[in-house]
Amino acid sequence: MPRPSLTERLAQHSAERARAGLLRRLHTIEQTDGPWVWRNGRQLLSFCSNDYLGLAQHPVLVDALKRAADSDGVGSGSAHLICGHRSVHAALEEALAEWTGRERALLFSTGYMANLGVMQALLQRDDVCVQDKLNHACLIDGAQLAGAELKRYPHADVDAAARQLSARPEAGALLATDGVFSMDGDVAPLRELAALCQRESASLMVDDAHGLGVFGVRGEGSVADAGLSAHDVPVLMATLGKALGCSGAFVAGSAELIDGLVQSARTYIYTTAMPPALAAATLAAVRLAQSDGWRREKLRALIARFRAGAAQLGLPLMPSPTAIQPLLLGDATAALVASEALEREGFLVTAIRPPTVPQGKARLRITLSAAHEEGDVDRLLESLSRVPMGRPV
Ligand SMILES: *Cc1c(COP(=O)(O)O)cnc(C)c1O
Repeated sequence: MPRPSLTERLAQHSAERARAGLLRRLHTIEQTDGPWVWRNGRQLLSFCSNDYLGLAQHPVLVDALKRAADSDGVGSGSAHLICGHRSVHAALEEALAEWTGRERALLFSTGYMANLGVMQALLQRDDVCVQDKLNHACLIDGAQLAGAELKRYPHADVDAAARQLSARPEAGALLATDGVFSMDGDVAPLRELAALCQRESASLMVDDAHGLGVFGVRGEGSVADAGLSAHDVPVLMATLGKALGCSGAFVAGSAELIDGLVQSARTYIYTTAMPPALAAATLAAVRLAQSDGWRREKLRALIARFRAGAAQLGLPLMPSPTAIQPLLLGDATAALVASEALEREGFLVTAIRPPTVPQGKARLRITLSAAHEEGDVDRLLESLSRVPMGRPV
């Protein structure tokens, strides 16, 4: 047998995806203005970004970025542990620790890297990592790369998680869950999971990518909103590219945890520190997210408005109380057809298909933002009432 060509094999895989109607397509956005985007020269109202508080283009953030770039330049020049760690990184870490009620926080360049780094540092081969089936891809990848035994329980099924933990009573155990599930928008049963982890002496890790900034009186996230402490959730991770409108991520926890990550997390050690100007913009975003309670209230009102309107239209809503409001269509082609029809009506709403979501669970992932107005939501609902939502004939 001749050796297979790797790129040919990859091309075959892509061709199979295309035949199944699952080809991923890259679209270029030419310009943006708040929730408005320009694509192929056409202006569309976007309902698919994770800029939940409408901070990504806020003038205070832009100004902080510009001023820091003027004084510090663009690149950090090296990893944190060499000479890339600047005062503004330290100030941002301190602000994030204070915000989330943790002793310390550590910056990572992306959420993907944060989750890989935490799991690789905490887990060993004989350990067990118990995860919700609908967890974000990078939590799954993290456990696999760490080499621990990965067990995935049915979505939000605390009893199933309990059985998986009690099957390995002597193993080191990490239970990891999204705080808010990225494709379904529902909130994890955090209190029940925390109680389970206490009973089983397992560590609980929450990825609050979609909860930070959105939940809690000052936007502290879904963990604080559930009344849980740093003792209940010793490993808290969140990203800076969603409600905060910037980019990057952090892990917050005890000084012991953070010191350990500095020693052992390879995705922290062997990578360039985030640009200091980005840290400056993010620090400004944290301040705004804490103080602008009206953004959370406006978002809540828009969510309620959308859900009431969609229910009235008989649209296939999912039980989500958050800014992520998917419409479950099931069939991948149907989701694509609906997304294209919405684009003709002037809206950008992406179809999410397998394997990002389970087979038969394709959907329109509609996201709301404090940057939207009531009229925007009303016009989206009006278009949705005209768009075919079933299987195409
Ligand atoms: C977006 C996301 C990540 C990855 O964060 P990036 O900073 O985009 O790499 C991790 N976890 C969850 C739940 C996410 O939604």
